[in-house]
Amino acid sequence: MGKELSADAVVIGAGIIGTAIALELARSGRRTISVDRLPAAGYGSTSSSCAIVRVHYSTLQGTAFAYDAYFDWKDWQSYLGLDLSESTKLARFRETGCLVMKTKENGFLENVVNHAGKLSIPCENWDAQRIAKRLPGYDLRSFAPARRQEDPEFGQPGLGRIEGGVFFPTAGFVNDPQLATQNIQAAAVHHGSQFLFNREVTEILTTAGRVEGVGLDDGTIIRTPVVVNVAGPYSAKVNRLARVDEDMKITTRALRQEVAHVPAPDHLDFERNGLIVSDNDIGVYCRPESGNFVLAGSEDPPCDPHEWVDPDEFSRDFTDQATTQALRLAQRMRGLKVPSRMGGVVDLYDVTEDWLPIYDRSALEGFYMACGSSGNQFKNAPAAGRLMTGLIDYCEGGHDHDRDPFQLKLAHLDYVLDTGTMSRLREVNPDSSFSVLG
Ligand SMILES: Cc1cc2nc3c(=O)[nH]c(=O)nc-3n(C[C@H](O)[C@H](O)[C@H](O)COP(=O)(O)OP(=O)(O)OC[C@H]3O[C@@H](n4cnc5c(N)ncnc54)[C@H](O)[C@@H]3O)c2cc1C
Repeated sequence: MGKELSADAVVIGAGIIGTAIALELARSGRRTISVDRLPAAGYGSTSSSCAIVRVHYSTLQGTAFAYDAYFDWKDWQSYLGLDLSESTKLARFRETGCLVMKTKENGFLENVVNHAGKLSIPCENWDAQRIAKRLPGYDLRSFAPARRQEDPEFGQPGLGRIEGGVFFPTAGFVNDPQLATQNIQAAAVHHGSQFLFNREVTEILTTAGRVEGVGLDDGTIIRTPVVVNVAGPYSAKVNRLARVDEDMKITTRALRQEVAHVPAPDHLDFERNGLIVSDNDIGVYCRPESGNFVLAGSEDPPCDPHEWVDPDEFSRDFTDQATTQALRLAQRMRGLKVPSRMGGVVDLYDVTEDWLPIYDRSALEGFYMACGSSGNQFKNAPAAGRLMTGLIDYCEGGHDHDRDPFQLKLAHLDYVLDTGTMSRLREVNPDSSFSVLG
């Protein structure tokens, strides 16, 4: 017989979103236990995150949610709410700003600028001259559509040029996503949360249509009325364990991703003067990294294959995808040093049909899910913690969230978010970018 424990809520997964949910549940007075199959918080897909914090999304709700969380990154210590000693190492948010290139494909950012205007998010229109001044040596010829290396026209510019972009000053990146997660864990522990590592949830216990606990791989049983699935790329597996996948219109799948980590050109001090650049014309986003490196991620152009995988069986070796991304960026950033042996990360997104997240209850009373983060929800973790806690309070208080969705008053904005837009029962949202941009 294994041990028997009890909690007011069990959180499956101690990534950035899972820990943020544990923290907020603990702040609401619940005794929480977080369980993770890995040895420490933030070791899952969070550890590979580019940790970009940006405020442009394709939907107004997505934009508001991200802007709300931006304020938490901006004042990390207040968010954590800890009286931390000077020796405690905190993750740092570097506010570099984010430049988004205007292209025909992104509708010259009309939508995005509209959303920013409605939410009073600062943004500036930059013409080509301003871009060239900020990013010396940038080649602004158009290379769209993004191509594969084997395409004879790969790297050949078309006739057009990038005429401008939109700069969002309230953006940047978090220097260490794992440390950020462990900071949240420390805050949650301060409020009484417990964390069990190297333990896997292998069973969801139910009685009469309601969750009553979880079983772990070492035989431990945790009795609880509330379970939250924040298992990242394993979310579909955990939903299957709970047998809640059948009523879901929006589902989740693990998608393999490569991020190239390449030295910046010699003439560019990208580490100090660089910024986030989202460049739909070449299908690449990038950000500065220490040592004057550049991280180059994919914006999922149509020519790139999607590699859906089993999260327990995927290769962490680079294919030619990371090199393709780096070479695409080299079209713009002349002198980028693309190495013959690629460095960077290979990891998984947890993707929905419309690349927008699911923050929701399930058909099983007491079983909730925060999943389908689709490569773009690291930044939203603090807001996701508040959303899920509010949603759980609402549902456990007897409200029918599926019929009458929980409305979340955002913490830092005068905006009420209809969380029904994040439901597992929604229709695919046609306004989405259907890419990592959300
Ligand atoms: C390469 C890459 C780049 C990204 N870049 C950005 C970015 O720049 N900006 C941004 O906002 N987002 C980005 N993202 C997305 C972001 O990192 C994720 O949305 C976020 O980290 C997800 O956090 P999570 O807590 O939901 O999941 P995870 O960090 O994956 O945590 C899930 C945890 O659940 C555990 N688990 C799974 N199953 C079980 C089980 N049965 N029992 C116990 N534990 C279990 C796992 O071990 C894992 O630790 C990126 C993602 C990747 C992969």
